[in-house]
Amino acid sequence: MPHRSRDHHDDNEDDDDDDDDDNEPIQDRTAAIPLHSKRTERMQRKQATREKRRAAIINLAKLPTELILQVLKSLRPSHVFNLALVNRRFHALVKANATVIGDHILKQRYPTLTHCFPLPMLLSNIDIPTAALLSAPARQKYLSIHHKPYSHVQPPNPQHLCTCLTCVMAWNNYNLVLDFAHWQDSLDNGVPIPMLPRGQPMVWNESLLSQNARLSERAVANSLWRAHIMETHLNSTVRSIRRHALNKGNKRIHVEMSDDEAASGTDQFLEKKGPLGIEFPFHRDNYYLLCVGSFFENHQAFANFSYSEAYLPNRYWKRDEQKWVFIPWGHERDLSYVVQSANRAVFEVSAGASSQCAVTGPTTNPLLTSNPY
Ligand SMILES: [Zn+2]
Repeated sequence: MPHRSRDHHDDNEDDDDDDDDDNEPIQDRTAAIPLHSKRTERMQRKQATREKRRAAIINLAKLPTELILQVLKSLRPSHVFNLALVNRRFHALVKANATVIGDHILKQRYPTLTHCFPLPMLLSNIDIPTAALLSAPARQKYLSIHHKPYSHVQPPNPQHLCTCLTCVMAWNNYNLVLDFAHWQDSLDNGVPIPMLPRGQPMVWNESLLSQNARLSERAVANSLWRAHIMETHLNSTVRSIRRHALNKGNKRIHVEMSDDEAASGTDQFLEKKGPLGIEFPFHRDNYYLLCVGSFFENHQAFANFSYSEAYLPNRYWKRDEQKWVFIPWGHERDLSYVVQSANRAVFEVSAGASSQCAVTGPTTNPLLTSNPY
């Protein structure tokens, strides 16, 4: 019995212990067992060395903003756009500094093309009365009748861009070089460019034209996009020169271009004397030979057309000085002509009214209904 009594006592103690365990929070007293072996130490040393080496590698993302900007300015525009896709920081950096980067690239890589392809002016940069004359519906209707739109170039938006003759030509050139670039693979491979049925708009063509127009609009607002279009046209020009050089039957004078010059990514080789031309390819058929004539000095007429493979408008070769001369920008001259024409129309309306002893003036504004050209 004493034994049983003892057991009974123990059972009671166990019950008390169980109650204590339930009430006290469990404490985790486990700890990592430190590893002390030669193998472990060797592995830790290797890991530390690896991390040190990794930290020592300089990558672009670790550079300060000023240095990244210097790198961006030295790249081709397409590479800048690719870099902007890497992460949010690069995207924001390129977006915020597009004009600075674009201006630098244009100056360093495409000085000749930049002169050959001036931008059309924004209507918002023109004084309000003249802008009203330019975008007047009557004038636009007149332009659409007398200047039939090209099938491969979308006309400019007259509410956004200046539509003086100089600016329309500048706009056409940007859209043209994008269209020319679109067909480079076909031209390289001898695949005919699809014909457009007369008077019947094709969905694919309308889509291509509006895409080119959107890119050209971006170039007007953003010099990085302008630089990208210049890069595109330089690539097209290099491919065109190569195509013509391979054509042994073509005995015309070619543009001189070495492999190094073609790979340079700059337009420096286009500064050399060569059969470069300015005539606008008014139809896609012209792409096969890129019908461009040499424009002789002193602003004389075209003579003895010598076809070339590069389209570089707005310049001519001055023989006396042995250099290319760029044709002056005619926007201001065209604007003054638009204003003069409108004033002349007002004078004629007033003179007509006086001669007929008219008491009241014209019921519509002659400035907006007259023929400005
Ligand atoms: Zn203009």
